[in-house]
Amino acid sequence: MIIQLESNIAAPVKEKIMQRMGDLKYKATEVKTQHGHYLIGIGKSDFDIREIGFMPGILDIHIVSDDYKLVSRKWKVKPTLIDLGDGVSIEEGQLAIMAGPCSIESEKQVALTIEHLKAMGIKIMRGGVYKPRSSPYSFRGMGIDGLKMWYEQARAAGIKIITEVMQVSQIEEMYPYTDIYQVGARNTQNFNLLDELGRVDKAVMIKRGISGTIDELLYSAEYVFSGGNEKLILCERGIRTYETASRNTLDLNAIPILKEKTHLPVVADPSHGIGVRRFVEPMALAAVMAGADGIIYETHQKPEEAFSDGQQTLNFQESLQLVRKLKATFELKQNLQNTPV
Ligand code: PEP
Ligand code: MN
Repeated sequence: MIIQLESNIAAPVKEKIMQRMGDLKYKATEVKTQHGHYLIGIGKSDFDIREIGFMPGILDIHIVSDDYKLVSRKWKVKPTLIDLGDGVSIEEGQLAIMAGPCSIESEKQVALTIEHLKAMGIKIMRGGVYKPRSSPYSFRGMGIDGLKMWYEQARAAGIKIITEVMQVSQIEEMYPYTDIYQVGARNTQNFNLLDELGRVDKAVMIKRGISGTIDELLYSAEYVFSGGNEKLILCERGIRTYETASRNTLDLNAIPILKEKTHLPVVADPSHGIGVRRFVEPMALAAVMAGADGIIYETHQKPEEAFSDGQQTLNFQESLQLVRKLKATFELKQNLQNTPV
């Protein structure tokens, strides 16, 4: 169960509610986020919610049968809107586009990318300064100095930054220069990292684990939410299957399934999802039709010279084409949804 408490609830009033939960054999966990104060009850026994719901100090009570609670759509029917400020948001009913290189490489690259994004009206730039690489000898990112350099240019251009955080110690140093912390596929179940991101008041995008199930992604989101941070976005980025013709298998099934299970926005990453440049576009468009609230993809002025993931990175011409088609596809999808058959 989820109990939403009055914001100024007195400690003894709260204690009484927790005691009643205990009597009903529910284990109570207190959660405070930017937006609410909750008691999450984990238990199995059947009871009439009026036994608790009328107690003083309670705003609302919900029975949520899913094992994850706060991220469940059974609790919050209305979709969550992620407000990044300056009129930039990620939300159901809009298509958020996030684009940029796999890795931040140089001042020049950042300048060229920002110019490209601005020309297309894209407000969120992706890029890694801490890169999880399979081989320790590959380029591992420019680090915090690269992020500061990027931030200066992005702020001047009115562009928001999404970038990967790999470990707890990086959260604080990245904070002033980051709009969305990305949790990469190798860290989806790094529970210490998720706990700490729960204490932050900036948006977090969690990518699905390389071999992670949809439910595991939702549990990871529940870690951050129950840690106190409601500003969450989920990302389907492909999973590892027995298929070898593509880098990963973009699980388009996950998009409508996640949209039904959770109120959080769902984004697709076709670049990592298929891993082959010429197939990024069809998968991106398919993800829009499947119901994605956003697309994140890799682009570079010269993909063949990119420090990482060049094989799946679009050049600016391809990127421009993709954005045109994304916008047209999203409009088509909205129209289809609004047209009675
Ligand atoms: C990335 O976005 O560049 C990245 C490393 O993604 P993932 O964690 O999905 O592999
Ligand atoms: Mn990449």
